[in-house]
Amino acid sequence: MSDTNPEQTAPDPTTAYPQPPQPEQEQPAPGLEQEMTPRPDHGEGSYVGHGRLEGRVAVVTGADSGIGRAVAIAFAREGADVVLSYLPQEEPDAQEVVRLVEEAGRRAIAVPDDLSTEDANVRLVRSAVEQLGRIDVLVAVAGKQVAVESIADLTSEQFDLTFRTNVHALFWLTKAALPHMPPGSAIITTSSIQAYNPSPTLLDYASTKAAINTFSKALAQQVAPQGVRVNVVAPGPFWTPLQVSGGQPTEALPEFGAQTPLGRAGQPAELASTYVYLASPESSYTTGATVSVTGGSPTP
Ligand code: NAD
Ligand code: MG
Repeated sequence: MSDTNPEQTAPDPTTAYPQPPQPEQEQPAPGLEQEMTPRPDHGEGSYVGHGRLEGRVAVVTGADSGIGRAVAIAFAREGADVVLSYLPQEEPDAQEVVRLVEEAGRRAIAVPDDLSTEDANVRLVRSAVEQLGRIDVLVAVAGKQVAVESIADLTSEQFDLTFRTNVHALFWLTKAALPHMPPGSAIITTSSIQAYNPSPTLLDYASTKAAINTFSKALAQQVAPQGVRVNVVAPGPFWTPLQVSGGQPTEALPEFGAQTPLGRAGQPAELASTYVYLASPESSYTTGATVSVTGGSPTP
């Protein structure tokens, strides 16, 4: 033992991934991962599966990019077939995920659709059940986030669409899916640190993320007797298309993530194992929980 630092055996989380400042950039929503600089890390080159979801059927919304892509890659490498939901204009990103899931030796079912209506959510569940027979893991990641400085400029149309995409779709999707989810199944929803610590520019979005958290905790109690678990992931700042396509004011992007205790934005790859844990029977006594992955920013 020396009296200085002992020898380092694990990566330092403060320096393990790209550091701010990020270059300023802007895309029209929903944005493409392929056009971001730097490209986010979804675990393409790093995630190693251990058979923890062998033979499962998973539905992942927002699966083309960002957090949903990292989940789809990890689930496939853990042995799951994956139904990929995304918007039609995200096809170029989605095709990369299809390829990655198939390279893992699993089936990828691509279902492009806009989930802001009940019909679309019912169609997504029907596609999954028709092609793969049931749903073992339902992962709701899709979300809409558009920063607006003043309530005076926040339109009723945006307020309504943010709620329909983030909250109503979750209601419609879980309602349609539950009859097809056997005991042992898991639902995982995606809230945000915004649920607890809202930005002044995200009135509508932050409110939906609080609603997702509360909805999930109520549903968890309701379906526990059926042997279905419901848990929530609450990310802090992650480097994804959502943020460079209107989620943040453009001038805030260079320092995005810098205010966290770890001093940088998270990469989607750093969230995948949380979703895998909540999907697998390793977390069999965990339901109604929110797991915060925030780079150290405090949450309740
Ligand atoms: P992302 O842009 O990669 O993913 C969002 C996805 O939502 C899109 O790829 C798109 O497929 C889907 N989507 C949006 N509107 C849709 C609609 N009407 N119909 C169907 N799909 C639609 O960005 P991300 O950051 O990975 O976002 C994933 C989730 O993580 C979102 O729910 C977001 O609120 C949440 N989140 C992100 C952060 C962050 O800092 N990136 C932080 C906290 C929570
Ligand atoms: Mg996308």
